[in-house]
Amino acid sequence: MSLFALPPIPDVPVRGEAEAYPVRRIFCVGRNYAAHAAEMGNEVDREAPFYFTKSPAHLVLSGAELPFPPGTEDYHHEMEFVVALGAPLFRGTPDQAARSIYGYACGLDMTRRDLQGAAKDKRRPWSLGKDVEGSALIGEITRATDFGAVADQAITLKVNGALRQDANLSELIHKVPDVIAHLSGYYHLGPGDLIYTGTPAGVGAVQAGDVLEGAIAGLTPIRLTLGAPD
Ligand code: MN
Repeated sequence: MSLFALPPIPDVPVRGEAEAYPVRRIFCVGRNYAAHAAEMGNEVDREAPFYFTKSPAHLVLSGAELPFPPGTEDYHHEMEFVVALGAPLFRGTPDQAARSIYGYACGLDMTRRDLQGAAKDKRRPWSLGKDVEGSALIGEITRATDFGAVADQAITLKVNGALRQDANLSELIHKVPDVIAHLSGYYHLGPGDLIYTGTPAGVGAVQAGDVLEGAIAGLTPIRLTLGAPD
């Protein structure tokens, strides 16, 4: 028995499956598309990816209608390709990493850009900028065997019908098996771990009332509606 009941972390639906995917942890890759790194004024480190994390409690499913978050005047969309792991991996090779993948989904890494920027300036952690309540949106997972190879699939985001991000998974600097293998040097990865693989160029601010629609070829599209602040 626990002392009190907590809000549940949503399980993620899987295309064609009756059972959903439970989530344990959320890892996010920074600056994994050159054009996005450039638009943020950063150099790309091609040697190794870097990461931040989001609380699993901040995961929300596609279709959510959420209040505009507190504490920001520059809330940004980051459309991302999400990898869902299905097998344990520790200090794995890229080949082993590829075999640890359960499936893929569309995701949004919503970001208080003003607070992230202030944290960068002061060499402080990004938590207030990145680990925002409701900031990890995810869509239905497609099993890796159904999706096929990660190749040159289009990745797009529209805000109120206007195209804001339009790129291609072939632009990923650190490829999916390399990211997973690298991360497995620091964590005992396993089922329930999600990896948001970074956003392409075109990030920008959204407002209360906006409707965000993300898509990646071969995956179920996602949708997020932002309401008035609460
Ligand atoms: Mn991101």
